[in-house]
Amino acid sequence: MQCPFCDAEPTRVVDSRPSDGGRSVRRRRTCSECARRFTTYERTEMGLIVRKRDGSLVPFEAAKIRAGLEKAVVDRQVPSGSIDALVDAIEAEVSASGSEVSSDEIGRMVLIGLRDIDEVAYLRFASVYKDFAGAGDFRREMAALEGSA
Ligand SMILES: [Zn+2]
Repeated sequence: MQCPFCDAEPTRVVDSRPSDGGRSVRRRRTCSECARRFTTYERTEMGLIVRKRDGSLVPFEAAKIRAGLEKAVVDRQVPSGSIDALVDAIEAEVSASGSEVSSDEIGRMVLIGLRDIDEVAYLRFASVYKDFAGAGDFRREMAALEGSA
């Protein structure tokens, strides 16, 4: 590990401890040349990570989002390519937001995108995503949809 101050290669680890709830290792290092100290973090490289509501972490999979979308638009006439475009847009937004995203955030991105594609598909997805308890929830969502249109 190169020293950020003098670019010398030989550095010594003086302290090593788990960080970020055990998902990374924080190391204090000292440079053998200039004796200055710096910190490095070691993480597993997993690509984009989704944090689910129960706190568990799973790899981001565009295919899962596509499957959810296809279920929502079944029997609906949606412009060809619109689902592909939405999946691509969500993947790009997730990538831009960092390495970790919550499943709620992804759900919100899907909802916003679906609303522009098809109202029925939007409501179908919303009913699952928002855990609608009954028709009242559905009516409120309809009203919100009409209010923002
Ligand atoms: Zn140094």
